Amino acid sequence: MNKKPRIVILGAGYGGMMTATRLQKSTAYRDAEITLVNKHNYHYQTTWLHEPAAGTMHHDRTRMKIDSVVDTNKINFVKDSVVEIKRDEKKVILEDGELDYDYLVIGLGSEPETFGIPGVEEHSFAIRSVNSVRLIREHIEYMFASYNKQDEKSDDVLTFVVAGAGFTGIEFVGELSERIPELCKEYDIDRELVKVYSVEAAPTALPGFDEELVEYAMNLLESRGVEFKINTPIKEVQDGRVLLADGEEIKAQTVIWTTGIRGNSIIENSGYETMRGRVKVESDLRVPGSDDTFIIGDCALIINEEINRPYPPTAQIAIQQSYTCSNNLKALIAGKTEMEEFKPDIKGTVASLGGKEAIGIVGERKLYGNSASAVKKIIDNRYLFLLGGMPLVLKKGKLKFF
Ligand code: FAD
Repeated sequence: MNKKPRIVILGAGYGGMMTATRLQKSTAYRDAEITLVNKHNYHYQTTWLHEPAAGTMHHDRTRMKIDSVVDTNKINFVKDSVVEIKRDEKKVILEDGELDYDYLVIGLGSEPETFGIPGVEEHSFAIRSVNSVRLIREHIEYMFASYNKQDEKSDDVLTFVVAGAGFTGIEFVGELSERIPELCKEYDIDRELVKVYSVEAAPTALPGFDEELVEYAMNLLESRGVEFKINTPIKEVQDGRVLLADGEEIKAQTVIWTTGIRGNSIIENSGYETMRGRVKVESDLRVPGSDDTFIIGDCALIINEEINRPYPPTAQIAIQQSYTCSNNLKALIAGKTEMEEFKPDIKGTVASLGGKEAIGIVGERKLYGNSASAVKKIIDNRYLFLLGGMPLVLKKGKLKFF
């Protein structure tokens, strides 16, 4: 090992950024050479992406330059894309170079799960990154702008299918249903002509969530013109249409795919044992049989022993894992072998429904409407506070609560 151990953190999402800033706040940066790698020079808030996707928020509000939060005198920042991890050589291959490590943290986030359904990759959009949501917003606007230019009006231009009524799908539909009246006004289009379908294979929207809150969300979204097709698997997506398993066909020029995620394919392709692209990590967040590699965030799989099922991948868990991961890295560079165990502390779940509406459970309390929406904003601001303190909250936070 080098005189100073080399820690390489892959991905500047919730897990990676928080791990880097936690190490920066300690004395670890003096005892180790720490490098953060990310494909962009900015960090974005994945949990806000449904808003710029629908066009209810500018994408710049969701992102910040990495060097505005990470002190590059303490942490090296490399803007590059990870291509492969060569575990045996303790080396990361980047598009424009390579990095050797003594300790590795993988926080490369997720990719959309298509379940192998034909046509999804070719004919649908995913809410995944700043680049992807900018494209969705532009595409939606283009559809509205195109409608009145057509010689023969075709309704599929104004038909939007959101595949998956889980958290991401419902949050996006909430934003879109808020944006549509504005777009109709701007492009002289009758609201009745616009169709939004929320299509879900499971027997309910927001599977696993409190039934009363699901009903509240569905009633609200239906009142804004959203049509639900529940218990309705999608069989295929083709150019301009969606084929449902019940034989129905929806003609739509816009399909947004939000049926869940899998881990980043780089992990699978680098020879790690995965389940839907995610590695079932040890309780200290290390890869089984590997003392030098931690996996956090959406790439890590951890089991909720109470129900014997994986915890859903969330920013909440990624952030909490960054605490355990950074503590364990600090212990390792101090020559200790005893590792902290990761214990998720799920404080609640809140889903926004667009405008000033949301639903959620915090502790034992069910929240609806404005109060849930205010809590959601507090959660969003809390992360900014953890990352960059009050200055970051004032710069990027959601400060209008009601
Ligand atoms: P990410 O935050 O996705 O970060 C991964 C980082 O890795 C990114 O910066 C990416 O650019 C970088 N990267 C990827 N590939 C490469 C590469 N090859 N080379 C270099 N860099 C790379 N969770 C909640 O807890 N609450 C919510 O309300 C919530 N709402 C959500 C709403 C939406 C619309 C979405 C999409 C997700 C939501 N989630 C929510 C889930 C949450 O966003 C994820 O669980 C969380 O982002 C995972 O964090 P992460 O650090 O693993 O990955």
